[in-house]
Amino acid sequence: FMNNIITWFSRSLRLGLSYKSLFILITMSFLSTFFEVFGISMFLPIFQFIRFNGDLELLVEDAEIWIYMINIFDYINIEPSLIILLISSFVLFVLRQFVTYLRIVYSSSVTQKIIQKQRNNMFSSYIKADSNFHDKLPVGNLVNIITTEVNSAVNGIMAPIELIVFSIMLFGYVFILLFISLEMTIASIVVLIIASRIPGAWIKMSRNIGRKLVHANTSTSEFLVSRLRSPRLVRLSGTESAEQEEYLKLTQSQRKLSVYSSILRAKTEVVMEPVVIAISLTFLYFSSSVLKLQIEIIGIYLVVALRLMPVVKGIVLQWQSVQRFMGSIEIIERRIDDMESSIEVDSGELELKNIKSNIKFNKVCYRYPTSIHDVIHNCSIRIGVGEITAIVGPSGSGKSTLVDLLPRIRIPTSGEICIDNKSLDAYTLSSVRKLISYVPQTPQIFIGTIKNHILYGKPNATSEEIKNAAQMAGIDLFVNSLPDGYDTIIGEDASRLSGGQRQRLDLARALIAESHVLILDEPTSNLDAKSEEIFRQSVMKIRKETNKTIIIITHHLVSISYADKIIVLNNGKIESSGTHEELIEGNSWYSSAYKIQENEAY
Ligand code: ADP
Ligand code: MG
Repeated sequence: FMNNIITWFSRSLRLGLSYKSLFILITMSFLSTFFEVFGISMFLPIFQFIRFNGDLELLVEDAEIWIYMINIFDYINIEPSLIILLISSFVLFVLRQFVTYLRIVYSSSVTQKIIQKQRNNMFSSYIKADSNFHDKLPVGNLVNIITTEVNSAVNGIMAPIELIVFSIMLFGYVFILLFISLEMTIASIVVLIIASRIPGAWIKMSRNIGRKLVHANTSTSEFLVSRLRSPRLVRLSGTESAEQEEYLKLTQSQRKLSVYSSILRAKTEVVMEPVVIAISLTFLYFSSSVLKLQIEIIGIYLVVALRLMPVVKGIVLQWQSVQRFMGSIEIIERRIDDMESSIEVDSGELELKNIKSNIKFNKVCYRYPTSIHDVIHNCSIRIGVGEITAIVGPSGSGKSTLVDLLPRIRIPTSGEICIDNKSLDAYTLSSVRKLISYVPQTPQIFIGTIKNHILYGKPNATSEEIKNAAQMAGIDLFVNSLPDGYDTIIGEDASRLSGGQRQRLDLARALIAESHVLILDEPTSNLDAKSEEIFRQSVMKIRKETNKTIIIITHHLVSISYADKIIVLNNGKIESSGTHEELIEGNSWYSSAYKIQENEAY
């Protein structure tokens, strides 16, 4: 039991429950229990007062507590009367309700604060995590955790506090009972223990169901996110009914588990009361016929028993909640651990302000955690400032992986990348990334307008700068032809644009940033021959006007023959490098591929 408490304590502190909140909540519980216990205790003198018809001398003689009662009444200088007694009992109950109200509101505000904090934590941890983590975790999985499981987990963390609250009340009542009669107290404790044991198996099952429910929620959410993103694939493949069936299965299992969990809760809920009542009534019978207790004692025993019932039920139900939400707590802890151990290393201390001479790859190797061989093997490259470098090679040869290493999206498994002869990891991540603009093979574009996306490269850019960047990227004519121009909403992932427009829009974002290096991954893969020529002119213009160092990945050799240096990558190794003329002479893959593509063009 102590172990449970300690585990819970460290868990809740970790999820963000503070000592202060815990202290306030428990203090409030003490207060409301205090008022409740005294309110109920008042019934004893009330019953006695009624029985002796308000005769104080008889009362003092017969009932010990009236000695204290009379002292209190003397102190506040009020004549004892039935009405005063009833009112004070009522006032105590009202006070209790007031504190209860405060406690519920405070508890909910604490709960929501922790939920919000965890959501924000997880979002920032996700963003700070490295690419291997992002490759591994399906988005739907995390969406489910951030939206659904966080709620359950935090409720699971708060449930033990309710448990403490109810336990305090329980002690309060037992205290009253002790006051009434020792036998009754012992008997009641036995009843409570028996009653709380009954739903034991259901509580255990709740834990199991809770875990299964987390699993079902996760699968459903993963499925949903992936299918919602690709309705075209489903329709074009004619798999609508299969997908619907699959989703039906998932939601069915969610529904069944939820209902089952409610059934377990309902069983616990209904079975306790009859047991407590039955045993109480039996006691009542014995207390009047065998123990011959006074009627006011029996009366207050009944009142206490009736008040006690919801408390015991509360304890058991809260314990069940703790078990039910355990699965959510576990998955959240695991996810937080995963993310914290995957946070990008950012140990560099130097600020990279500009690049003066060159970027060098020294015998760089890279292997994905899931791959058996090096995807990049022993690559050494020198890129001079202001040069245009082309990386060419067959698809799958490792071109995209190679350029991912430069902004440290991925970290080489061995070898070193240097900027101005200093290792890349000596610089802070943010300063390195600030100097590098990267237009990926598949641009990622948020929901919003064309202007929003370009501004993502430089949030405070003027509209003049936006127009300039669009012009250089070769998308301004298209944008001007739209009725809403730069304010056109382009949909999620720019679904309302063509592939080429999307790439050029993303290029505009990269160009507006005040970076020194521009990485373009297959920028012309979606362009026709004419657009490609326009693009080539744009690149020349960019170089002339901005003096950016440009790295272009392409498998279209004809479009890149003007580069200062062309690097041929094959199977993760640099096969050769040089100018177009040198490669035509010296590299057989390059010269034959070039000839084929050249013939295609005419
Ligand atoms: P290219 O850009 O030249 O077409 P890539 O760099 O995208 O090639 O991929 C090189 C190799 O690495 C391929 O064999 C690919 O299957 C593998 N690969 C790419 N991305 C990942 C990843 N996230 N995890 C594991 N393997 C990957
Ligand atoms: Mg690629």
